[in-house]
Amino acid sequence: MKAEIIAVGTELLLGQIVNTNAQAISQQLADLGIDVYFQTVVGDNPERLRQAIEIGRGRADLLVFTGGLGPTQDDLTKDVLADYLGRPMGIHEPSMRVIEELFSSRGAHMVESNIRQAHLILGEGSDPLDNSTGLAVGNGIEDSGTLYMLLPGPPREMEPMLLGPGTAWLRSKLREERPLYSRVLKFAGIGESNLEAALIDLIDGQSDPTIAPYAKEGEVALRVSTKASSEEEAAIKINATVSVVAQRVGEHLYAQKDVPIEDSVVELLRNARKRLASAESLSGGLFGELITRVPGSSGEYVGGVITYTNLMKHKLLDIPMSQLEGDGAPGAISESTAKLMAENVMIITGADFGVALTGVAGPAESEGKPVGLVYFAVAEKGKETVVYTSHFKGVREMVRIRAVKSALYRLWQ
Ligand code: ATP
Ligand code: MG
Repeated sequence: MKAEIIAVGTELLLGQIVNTNAQAISQQLADLGIDVYFQTVVGDNPERLRQAIEIGRGRADLLVFTGGLGPTQDDLTKDVLADYLGRPMGIHEPSMRVIEELFSSRGAHMVESNIRQAHLILGEGSDPLDNSTGLAVGNGIEDSGTLYMLLPGPPREMEPMLLGPGTAWLRSKLREERPLYSRVLKFAGIGESNLEAALIDLIDGQSDPTIAPYAKEGEVALRVSTKASSEEEAAIKINATVSVVAQRVGEHLYAQKDVPIEDSVVELLRNARKRLASAESLSGGLFGELITRVPGSSGEYVGGVITYTNLMKHKLLDIPMSQLEGDGAPGAISESTAKLMAENVMIITGADFGVALTGVAGPAESEGKPVGLVYFAVAEKGKETVVYTSHFKGVREMVRIRAVKSALYRLWQ
């Protein structure tokens, strides 16, 4: 099946927002084994939207629209498509009731335009797609052999609709005997090229299951996909591939689902009933930011300090100035400073683990040390502190995220 994504919105053309929905939809369609051949962006203009539908219909079997399902005058995706297909528009009663109840509970007066959010293109082969996080109902339509799916614009509405009712609708239309199943494996402490090198024969062989690596926000992932007649059959085939992968790079494999490593670290700490504190220099709080993105991490993460200057390392973490500055001193960017930072933040906060990062993010070298050089240390109560040295490539942002992800990896180990 060939698909085209049509994102509707003048604000996309003006560069006011980024078309993240196209990415999310593409990823989900790939997971379903549907090939996306085109991504189109068109403004809130009926004539040009009509043209986009006409072109899309000529080159794809499935057109996925996002945006323009709202109540305002510029939200015209449903109207234009109904008009194009020559189908009448009706009211989806369950959605209408939700809208009415919302307005009456607020004591607000419902205006005509709100009814538009309950609009549904009618006729055979048209199904509503429930909106669990908003008001505008989605719509899936099969018409003359072409599939049309209408999703809202706001990502927090679009994504649940796509992953839930949208995916169920697509699967029912695919009617494949052997649908595609896939599993994401997540790796840390290894780069994309090294992972690929370790698995090159499997990747090039493109056997069944197929495996494809990709990098994402300082982490590396592998998608393992196979066609199977049942979920159980798929699981058996995928498990066999996973065990081959694990034999080669098992020490880097931290999850068999698409979660960031900080989630796995928090889970480990939770199971072990241990608490963590951080002391950051080059990463400026990024470690704390990632850890606190994990819901409920306050049980495992006591907090951290950003000691960017030597004075702050001295004042907040009790690192002697003689360690940090002066002739013959190891300096702020050194193994011994990383070790002291990790140990002292652990002692000061009373946590079970202390993690520290110090290094050169760039663009210029520091203390005569090269860009990308990072020391990070993991201290654990009652154990010898371990210090790691890494040389990261890339620009400032990449060095920072890679350093933090590596520190998380060492904690996870
Ligand atoms: P609403 O009911 O909010 O009007 P809608 O379905 O009519 O929703 P739009 O009016 O097109 O959608 O867009 C609403 C908002 O959703 C945009 O301002 C933008 O923040 C977000 N949005 C729309 N399209 C996209 C997209 N392709 N990628 C990411 N965000 C988007
Ligand atoms: Mg709108």
